This record gives sequence, structure tokens and C-alpha cells, in this order.
Amino acid sequence: MQEYLGSCLCSGVHYKITNQLGPIVYCHCLRCQKASGSASVNSVEIQRSDFTITQGHDLVQCFENPGQVNRFFCKHCGSQLFSQREATPDSMRVRLGTLDTKIDKKVAFHIFVDSKPLWDDILDDAPQYPARPGD
Ligand SMILES: [Zn+2]
Ligand SMILES: [Zn+2]
Repeated sequence: MQEYLGSCLCSGVHYKITNQLGPIVYCHCLRCQKASGSASVNSVEIQRSDFTITQGHDLVQCFENPGQVNRFFCKHCGSQLFSQREATPDSMRVRLGTLDTKIDKKVAFHIFVDSKPLWDDILDDAPQYPARPGD
């Protein structure tokens, strides 16, 4: 079985993913810009049942946004770890920068590109969606 390991900046939180990774998504929405302090949030979609926190459960805190996206982070170092949407209860998105296992996948698509700042240039050929596809 495939296994991917990840951790936060302070190494207090460790997690594992025990199945295939879904597509890599770059989200350029304004909330992701604020949450990450960067141009976009880069995450990979997985099944929630494939995800386990193996260390530091008590350090994981949630910034809740009811009906939208709940963002989970390490309350000691601030690393964003993953997010969950109520609309998609079976899946979740893990922040790629916290993965310790090397992967060779590339970005599958960009969402909310209508919100991206002018200084954020998308230089790959992956499909771009103005908002969330399907909404
Ligand atoms: Zn941490
Ligand atoms: Zn976003």
C-alpha cells in the first residue's frame, strides 16, 4: 500500500496518507491568500478515510468557516495542514508544503484565478477556472 508522510514546521504534528493522492490543486482565492500569506494554496485532494494524524493531535486547531472551508493548522508553529469542506464530506485537501514524502505529480488545475493578484503569474499549462468548477 502506498504511504505518504507529512509534518508541520515545528515537527509537533505528523500525519500519514495511506492511499493514492488525488489531483493537485492551486487555489488562488482571497481567503487562501490570507490563510497562507502567499499567492495561492497548493494542496492535494485525498479521501478523509486515508488520512491519519500520527502525532500531535492536541496541536491541531481548526479555523472554522461554517458552510465553507474549515482550515486546520498547527497551533504552535502556524503551519496550515489541511482543509475540509462540508459540501464534500468524503474528501479533504492536504497542504502540499507539509508533505515529507517526495512526489512527482504536477499541478492538475488552478481554481479562483479571477481572484489572483497581478503579481501572481501562472506559468504552467494546467487548466484554469475563474472560480470553483461546478459551483
Ligand atoms: Zn507545528
Ligand atoms: Zn482558496
